[in-house]
Amino acid sequence: MNAIYPGSFDPVTNGHIDIARRSAALCTHLTVAVLDNLHKSPLFSVEERVAMLRDAFRQDKNIEVEAFSGLLVDYASKKGIMTIIRGLRSQDDIAKELPYAIWNRQLSGGLVETMYLPAEPSYQHISGSIVREVAALQYRGGHNDKILASMVPPAVLAALREKLEH
Ligand code: ADP
Repeated sequence: MNAIYPGSFDPVTNGHIDIARRSAALCTHLTVAVLDNLHKSPLFSVEERVAMLRDAFRQDKNIEVEAFSGLLVDYASKKGIMTIIRGLRSQDDIAKELPYAIWNRQLSGGLVETMYLPAEPSYQHISGSIVREVAALQYRGGHNDKILASMVPPAVLAALREKLEH
């Protein structure tokens, strides 16, 4: 099975990395697909997000990272992929995710299914938005980043510091 793990990954966190590795262990090939969403203004550009993900997965032989825009099912079907992977952290994620799974199945004529992996409990509280918020407040206030360092890979921590310290 080939699968696709889509998201904004702004920035990639240890929670994302865990879901990608656990699903890659079940797949022949996993594509981590970074959404280039024109309606959001991300902290990191799509090129920066792709570069950080490629760095995080540089030793994972069956994981590739690409950017995409437009409908996920169009991108998936161009690549011949029928399985979408998503991570679930909470009841909130379940409520948000289910309509997308139904839409994607219907938009693909019943071909594309979504599969979910539960978040690892120690990563359940991590989201890109909290990481961005805490990093902005910590670096502007000159605080130490020990807690943040347990949530993202070292290269992402350095990129956050570089972007937000000044
Ligand atoms: P976020 O900004 O909330 O981190 P993304 O759009 O980048 O979200 O998330 C991509 C996918 O990864 C979604 O399915 C999301 O539920 C999942 N995900 C995000 N953070 C985690 C985490 N800490 N543990 C497990 N799954 C996660």
